[in-house]
Amino acid sequence: MPFVLDASALLAGKDLLLEEMFCTPHVLEEVKGKDPTIQLMSMIETRVEVRDPSDESVTKVNEAAGRTGDAKRLSPADVGVIALAIDLDATIITDDYSIQNVANELGLDYSGLSFPDIKRKVEWGYRCVGCGKRFEEPMDECPICGSRIKTTPKSTSRISSASADRSE
Ligand SMILES: [Zn+2]
Repeated sequence: MPFVLDASALLAGKDLLLEEMFCTPHVLEEVKGKDPTIQLMSMIETRVEVRDPSDESVTKVNEAAGRTGDAKRLSPADVGVIALAIDLDATIITDDYSIQNVANELGLDYSGLSFPDIKRKVEWGYRCVGCGKRFEEPMDECPICGSRIKTTPKSTSRISSASADRSE
């Protein structure tokens, strides 16, 4: 199941372990402006796919935001997040009430970060794709064999359903 994350979700992203994570270029810029850690940027670069939403979906989101009265509260980045979720049929991860409201109007699934299954205690580690040696710190290449280093969770637990947080 794909997930689209907004900036607040990505900034909490070191605790997230989701399959198929996406964000928009706009959101990525917001995250970079918040002085993210090297570990977080490494996680985003290896695990989050950056995509532009379609113009058609952006139009749909703006129309829906007009209906719900959220148009003034949504930033262009917020609109992009919702539009990308339409394109990918994805669940949105956000704590922003206006995003959730418009997502609801459009029949999209969403989840807040406080949802217990979402906020995971994942410790990230780094593993060589060549020899498999694990490291505590991110590095460009393996000092042993020179292969690429991948960000990988030290402990794994999948999130079963992130779409149940619609009752608040
Ligand atoms: Zn190696």
